[in-house]
Amino acid sequence: MRNVHVSLGNRSYDIRIASGLITRLGRECARLKLGPRCAIITDTNVGKRYAKTVFNSLATAGFSPALIIVQPGEPAKSLKTVQSCYDQLAVHRLERKSFIVALGGGVVGDLAGFLAATYLRGIAFVQAPTTLLAQVDSSVGGKVGVNLNAGKNLVGAFYQPRLVACDLDTLKTLPDREFRAGLAEVIKYGIIYDSKLFAQIERDFLKLLKREPRMLAAVVARCCEIKAEIVGRDETEGGPRAILNFGHTIGHAIEAVSGYGRFLHGEAIAIGQVAAAKISSSVLGLPERDVERIVRLFRRAGLPTTVRFRSGQRPRLFAAMRLDKKVSGGEIKFVLAKKIGRVEYGHKVPDALIEQTLNLQPSTLN
Ligand code: ADP
Ligand code: ZN
Repeated sequence: MRNVHVSLGNRSYDIRIASGLITRLGRECARLKLGPRCAIITDTNVGKRYAKTVFNSLATAGFSPALIIVQPGEPAKSLKTVQSCYDQLAVHRLERKSFIVALGGGVVGDLAGFLAATYLRGIAFVQAPTTLLAQVDSSVGGKVGVNLNAGKNLVGAFYQPRLVACDLDTLKTLPDREFRAGLAEVIKYGIIYDSKLFAQIERDFLKLLKREPRMLAAVVARCCEIKAEIVGRDETEGGPRAILNFGHTIGHAIEAVSGYGRFLHGEAIAIGQVAAAKISSSVLGLPERDVERIVRLFRRAGLPTTVRFRSGQRPRLFAAMRLDKKVSGGEIKFVLAKKIGRVEYGHKVPDALIEQTLNLQPSTLN
């Protein structure tokens, strides 16, 4: 078992990483000294595989769990689902000492976290992430929320879990495309923070792709450690936390413009990170060799590194970049790399350079 401590004063918590953790989740929760009632929130895909294990584990440890199952996929992150879940929490008479267990990927984690943050003005919340993306990224750091028609994650809170339990065994059933998409965030940690991690991923890439438990344990733990360190310094994204958005300004815009659903988040940020690396070489002198290593690693992960836009999409792409929550005062600010393992945030990048990097030709695409 690996343990990563997230240090946030009285909101500190542990991330546990091991195989078979969900079978022991009840015991882990017992250490948190919470009330007996709880709710497991999951989606149909994850629920049919793992809900019974988690339910039994909690029941055996003396809890009385209720099971709330939502549809899989992004549409579940809606106020409509929130409403229906609130009603079910009330039916099961969850109270102030009760807690919610999020069993699933990022969608379930964001939704369940939002419910926990708001139900009865906040009840405790435990994350049991089952996708690579959720284990290394969304379950750590306390961002929870749901979507509006106007955009993703527009309603939410910073709300820390009491425990994150990453069961590596659950990754065995994750569809290949989802696993590869998670690798985009893993590679990101190497680029923004840890050249050794980047080199380790390059060296042992096949082990990672085969989901070898020891490799997974090492990589997931290192990514969580990095995220914990960054979040520990800047819980609500006033400054340094921004580096986690490497590749995300362009990535989010690609997701928005291509219609949510064409690209998975990990795929869109793979393209975004490659673009950010190319921009970095112009603006910050990121060595060409580093750009090549970055491109190659995303390619090996089977992730897209470029995208073609139809004419007319260019203004929408820029509009989407300016709408991104991280924009302040209308300026698009980028996280750029100086070398693999070191980035800087807050760089202004001229539109023309973004266009050139993405191969957009204003005259033909307008
Ligand atoms: P993300 O963590 O990438 O934000 P989602 O919560 O949307 O993703 O999950 C991606 C998809 O994978 C969903 O359809 C979900 O039901 C499914 N899923 C999540 N975890 C597992 C798993 N361990 N095994 C099989 N399918 C899973
Ligand atoms: Zn991301």
